[in-house]
Amino acid sequence: MKVAVIGGGIIGLCSAYYLRRDGHDVTVIDRPGEADAGCSHGNGGIIVPSHFVPLASPGMVKVGLKMLLDKESPFGIERWTDLRLVGWMLRFLQSATAAHVKRAGPILRDLNLQSRALYEAMIQDLDVQVGYGQRGLLMICETQTALDEEAHLAADANKLGLTTEVLTAAELQKLEPNLTLRAAGAVHFKDDAHLSPGILMAALRKNLTQNGVNFLECEVSTIRERGSKIESVGNGQTQIQADQFVLATGARTQDLAATFRQPQVKIVAGRGYGFTVKNPPEQINLPAILTEARVAVTPMPDGIRFVGTMELARAVIKADSPRVTGMKKSISRYYPAFSADKLKGEIWCGLRPCSPTGLPYLSRGNGFENLVLATGHAMMGMSLGPVSGQYVADLIANRPVQHDLSTH
Ligand SMILES: Cc1cc2nc3c(=O)[nH]c(=O)nc-3n(C[C@H](O)[C@H](O)[C@H](O)COP(=O)(O)OP(=O)(O)OC[C@H]3O[C@@H](n4cnc5c(N)ncnc54)[C@H](O)[C@@H]3O)c2cc1C
Repeated sequence: MKVAVIGGGIIGLCSAYYLRRDGHDVTVIDRPGEADAGCSHGNGGIIVPSHFVPLASPGMVKVGLKMLLDKESPFGIERWTDLRLVGWMLRFLQSATAAHVKRAGPILRDLNLQSRALYEAMIQDLDVQVGYGQRGLLMICETQTALDEEAHLAADANKLGLTTEVLTAAELQKLEPNLTLRAAGAVHFKDDAHLSPGILMAALRKNLTQNGVNFLECEVSTIRERGSKIESVGNGQTQIQADQFVLATGARTQDLAATFRQPQVKIVAGRGYGFTVKNPPEQINLPAILTEARVAVTPMPDGIRFVGTMELARAVIKADSPRVTGMKKSISRYYPAFSADKLKGEIWCGLRPCSPTGLPYLSRGNGFENLVLATGHAMMGMSLGPVSGQYVADLIANRPVQHDLSTH
């Protein structure tokens, strides 16, 4: 079949990868100038079986409310008055229940573990060093209270079959012998892995091009229909016809859901920032999350990457934010050698496609026979890229998928 994948981020490229392996004639349509930009290029690159608690959870509501009024805190809301955001927020609050957390846990675990296995095979196929390693993720806690909470989470993780270890400050130091640390301890989630998103994305795109996938620059804003099918998508001047269409447009799906008449798809951009310190004052071995500060730290081939902050916002990139200042202050608290003057690096901004339930939309679209939705991966889209691509290919081939992600 002729398949048009709209969106060239990690979800679009992974969809194209598995669709091409099924023998389809695949075209990836992306906004002009986005080939090496966008959320999938500068993120933390952590593959996260540890993230089995969805964004919509009672704990998140509590933490979020505490942080809302501080402009340097890791969490904020840009426009309370935006009606779309109000609708999203209501759905989020409705979902943030213990029952939802219990239902979502096994789904997120399965998706992340399957994706990690698929990454391992894909990386071998790409035959490129992408900085991949499975050394786990340290949740580093400044305070004993946070460590106790993380230890609770670790016990829940163990019940889901994940491997964790609660570490005292001295045990943590043994894992990071060359790093000055100020922390009460950490939990080591051992199933997590990491890679360099920029290298992976470039290698994947090259592989797809070599295997006959077409890339087209066009900002899709219109669709043409015939009966119960989409006939073509485009911008009025350029229209691209296909048998099947995949909507993998990340945070900008918030603008396209109406065009594709998918009102059930509610996406808000979760704006985040990051920077890579090329000459770190000390070496860091393992990816980590500085728990109270909500900053993720990843050793990459070109330096140490720090990412963080979540600003629920319109899908607009911003060059900087007071939240980056807050992020830097908090990093120096955990890693005193990384003082503000050492935390240099170009500021990168990315837009997480946040669904209100914390689960992605990976299903057939409503109302059209030939539309597949692949969006809403929030803070784990890099992690869930391959499994999402595989779901898209399975849905198009009418093969069964393990979890029904059509209703959240
Ligand atoms: C600070 C930060 C840190 C993160 N760290 C991690 C991490 O460690 N691990 C992890 O798993 N995830 C992480 N994420 C999340 C991850 O980056 C995202 O979930 C993921 O990149 C989303 O991929 P996507 O393909 O859905 O969207 P995108 O990468 O945004 O791709 C969507 C594409 O669709 C295109 N598009 C949009 N509208 C149109 C249109 N109308 N026509 C044509 N094309 C269109 C865009 O140009 C874009 O190229 C992080 C995100 C941020 C912001």
